[in-house]
Amino acid sequence: MNTINNADNILELPLPPLLAVPLPTNRPRLEIEIGDVVCAGQTIAVSDAGADVLSPVTGIVGVPVIRRLASPIHETALCLPLTTENVRKLPPAVVVLSPDIQVTLKKAGVVGLGGGAFPAWRKYRPQIKQLIINAVESDTHICCDRALLAVHRQTLAVTVARIAYALSVPAAIIALRHDAPDISPVEGVNICRIPTGYALGNERLLVRHLLDTVIPSHETLADHGIMCFNIGTALAIDDALTNSKPMLGRVLTVRRPDGDVINLRVPFGVSIRDVATFANVRTAMAHIGGRDARAAMPADAVIHAKTNIINFCQTAQDTPLPCIRCGDCLPVCPENLSPLHLYADWRDGDFARMEKRQLDACLLCRRCDDVCPSNISLTNAFATAQHHVAVAREKNVQTKQWQTRYERHQQRLDVPRQFAGVNAAARAAQAMNRVAKAKRATATTHK
Ligand code: SF4
Ligand code: SF4
Repeated sequence: MNTINNADNILELPLPPLLAVPLPTNRPRLEIEIGDVVCAGQTIAVSDAGADVLSPVTGIVGVPVIRRLASPIHETALCLPLTTENVRKLPPAVVVLSPDIQVTLKKAGVVGLGGGAFPAWRKYRPQIKQLIINAVESDTHICCDRALLAVHRQTLAVTVARIAYALSVPAAIIALRHDAPDISPVEGVNICRIPTGYALGNERLLVRHLLDTVIPSHETLADHGIMCFNIGTALAIDDALTNSKPMLGRVLTVRRPDGDVINLRVPFGVSIRDVATFANVRTAMAHIGGRDARAAMPADAVIHAKTNIINFCQTAQDTPLPCIRCGDCLPVCPENLSPLHLYADWRDGDFARMEKRQLDACLLCRRCDDVCPSNISLTNAFATAQHHVAVAREKNVQTKQWQTRYERHQQRLDVPRQFAGVNAAARAAQAMNRVAKAKRATATTHK
C-alpha cells in the first residue's frame, strides 16, 4: 500500500512494463524502427512544427497503436508502445547543445506543461524583452505547480535568472498565487503575487495584470516581446540548457476518491491504470479536470504533457443541466464574449459560427463555469472547440503547402516539355533539310 502524503511533496511513479508514447499529429517522421531498443532521451520522432518526441525510458519499440489521451478535450493520438520488461537499461541520451536556442529546445523535447503542450522553441525569439514564469494555478484542485514551487523554493529565483541570462532576456518575473509558499529572492528577478479572485493562470490575463499590456487574440505574446512559461516548463528549460537533460515526463496531481492528494512524477506514456495501481485506486474510470472533473477517461488513456491532474472520483461531479439562458455567464467574461451563445453553437457543432463569435479570444479562464447555475462545463467545450479549429487550420495550411508544391512541380515538368517541343521541331526541320539536300545531290549526279 502506498502512503498518500503531503501534497507539497513529489513522489516517483515506478516504471510500468509498458508505455505508449504519443506521436505528433502533424506528419511525424519516425527516427527508429519497430523492434529497436531505444534509450531514455533518444529521439523517436520529429515533426517540423512540434518539439522532437523522445523516448522517456529504455525500451523495445512496438507496433504503433491509437490511444485516447488523458486530457479534457477528447483527443486521440497514434502512440508508440515501449516495452520496458527484460530490457537491459541503457545510459540515457543527453541533449546536444546548439548555439541556436530554438534548436536546443526542440531537440530537448521541451513543451509547455501549463495545459497547452505548446513547443517551447516556438515561443522563443531573440528580441524577447520580458520573461514571465507562471506559477499561478487557477484550479484549486490542481497542486502540481505548488509542489514544484515548494520543492524548488530556495533555488527557483536563481534558476529563473539563469534562464533569462541564457535566453538574453533583460527582465524576469515569477508570478505566484497569493497563498503560494515564499521563495528566496534574487537580484534581477521580480516576484509578484496575484490577488485573490483574479482569473488566475491564463497567460494573457497574467500579462495584462503584470505589465498592463493587452494582447489581442490574433497576436502572440512574442509579438509584444514577452515570453511566458509554466514553472514546470521553466525547470525543464533550465535542465536542458544547464544539464543537457531532455524533458521526459512531468509532475501531475492525483486525487483519490477519498479526497487524498499526491503529486506524482511520471514519464510520458504511462496510463491512468498505472497511476491508479500506484495510488491504490480500484476504478475503471478516472476524470480529467479539477473542480469540474467531467471528462471521463478509460483506464488505458495515455498521460502526456497536457495531463496536469487525474481525478479518481467515482462519478462525474455535478451532472450538468440544460442551459436556462439566465445570462449569468455574460457579465463575468473578461473578454466580453457570449458564453451562452458560444455554447449553443458548440451544441450545434457549428465551429464556423463559434469562430465568428471570437472563440479564439476565449482565455479558458473558467469564470463562466463558476457562475453557471446549470453546472455546464463551458470551458471544456470551448477548449475542445479551440483544439478542433486549430487542427482544421493546420490541415488547411498543409493542404495549401501541398497545392503550391504540386503546382511548382508541374511548372518544373512543363519547362523540359516546352524545350522538348522546340527540339522536336528543330529535329524535323533538320531532317527535311537533309532529305532536300540528298534529293538535290541525286539530281546533280543524274545530270
Ligand atoms: S450561466 Fe449557464 S445556464 Fe446561464 S446562460 Fe450561461 S450557460 Fe446558460
Ligand atoms: S472561459 Fe468563459 S469567461 Fe473565460 S474568457 Fe472564455 S468564455 Fe469568457
